[in-house]
Amino acid sequence: MKNVISAVCIKCGAEVAPTPDITVCPHCGGLLDIKYDYKYIASKVTAKDISERRDYSMWRYREFLPVEENTPNTPLRVGWSPFYEVPKLAEVLGIKQLWIKDDGINPTGSLKDRASAMAVAKAMEAKADTIACSSTGNAASSLAGNAAAAGLKTYIFVPSRAPKGKVAQLMIFGANVISVEGSYEETFRLSAEAIDRWGWYNRNAAINPYLVEGKKTVSLEIAEQLGFRMPDYVAVSVGDGCTIAGVWKGFKDLYQAGIIDRLPRLISVQAAGCCPLNTELQTGKPWQPMEENTIADSIAVGVPRNPDKALNAVRESNGIAVNVTDEEILGAMRLLGRTCGLFGEPAGVTGAAGIKKARQTGLIPADATVVGIISGNGLKDVNNAIKAAGEPISIAPDMKLLLEAFDKKGFNLK
Ligand SMILES: *Cc1c(COP(=O)(O)O)cnc(C)c1O
Ligand SMILES: [Zn+2]
Repeated sequence: MKNVISAVCIKCGAEVAPTPDITVCPHCGGLLDIKYDYKYIASKVTAKDISERRDYSMWRYREFLPVEENTPNTPLRVGWSPFYEVPKLAEVLGIKQLWIKDDGINPTGSLKDRASAMAVAKAMEAKADTIACSSTGNAASSLAGNAAAAGLKTYIFVPSRAPKGKVAQLMIFGANVISVEGSYEETFRLSAEAIDRWGWYNRNAAINPYLVEGKKTVSLEIAEQLGFRMPDYVAVSVGDGCTIAGVWKGFKDLYQAGIIDRLPRLISVQAAGCCPLNTELQTGKPWQPMEENTIADSIAVGVPRNPDKALNAVRESNGIAVNVTDEEILGAMRLLGRTCGLFGEPAGVTGAAGIKKARQTGLIPADATVVGIISGNGLKDVNNAIKAAGEPISIAPDMKLLLEAFDKKGFNLK
């Protein structure tokens, strides 16, 4: 990899050779961060080169990705998700300009596909035939799908609370699924022990430093889809913290390669019922484990796995932290559906809920330009969607009953 220099420990600064199967720092156990040669990257690619490419997937940014030149693109089409300017929603929220990046349209329905495609590419480089992870649900289903497409076996650990839609995906993709009667934290620990024992390729959040590099492609796309002109703010829903760390890495990469000339500020959005990282950002006191008390299962992470990269990202960007209640999350599901035709799962719309809250509380000004990311598809968790939107009119097939029902609803039909 001519574009990669090393993997640097974010705790002790040790530099490690970037082999495909590295996990944490061999000296202190700290998380690793992939370090690039931006001079080399800038000599190889310009904004114009990128714009002319016809590979409409995350692999269009190969110069920025930690893969060998001869590593093939992974089979599923991950990335290049739609990017919508949403003036109606901007008006409702009282924001000058707003865009939504819909990462729920990825092949398995979440932004996690970006990390899982990267994990599959690196597992192939490592000549592994089995990959494992623990996950609140989306990392699992995305790994299962991307691995199935590439012909790799998977062992996947999920907490038993994972929504049916996500578990159904796992079963369809042929994963070996272990549903753990415990919290995400307990699930994670069991998976780590099993991975150690059987030597599977490790796709656990944060532990594998390449995952963030896959996730950062969402920012490379946002920048490109904006013509490489940066917005003031980008809002991200936060659980383990890998996504927001990846979002920041992507923007910084482009900045360091001279492709963009300013950086946006991050809005870190967590559920009020599980917000350890935002609590540190808001109070300055070191984060403490919290209960996983929210309907937004994908970000119900009481013990975040990537706290340092996530906190650094928000602080470096001069970002802000916003917590939203489950009610506000359900409200954002309705609002996105009704003003934009977009359908996100609870954690998927938490970023958007945070934009609304940040505007209401004056944390961001009315003349701001803002990007929100929908990180997961609403069909993954239909129970909460029904909770957000209610039940339909339900009647026997009879015109009289239809008229009565319309009357009751107050529909004013001629
Ligand atoms: C995983 C996930 C997140 C948060 O990502 P982290 O890396 O855990 O912070 C947000 N939304 C959805 C839909 C997710 O699946
Ligand atoms: Zn270290």
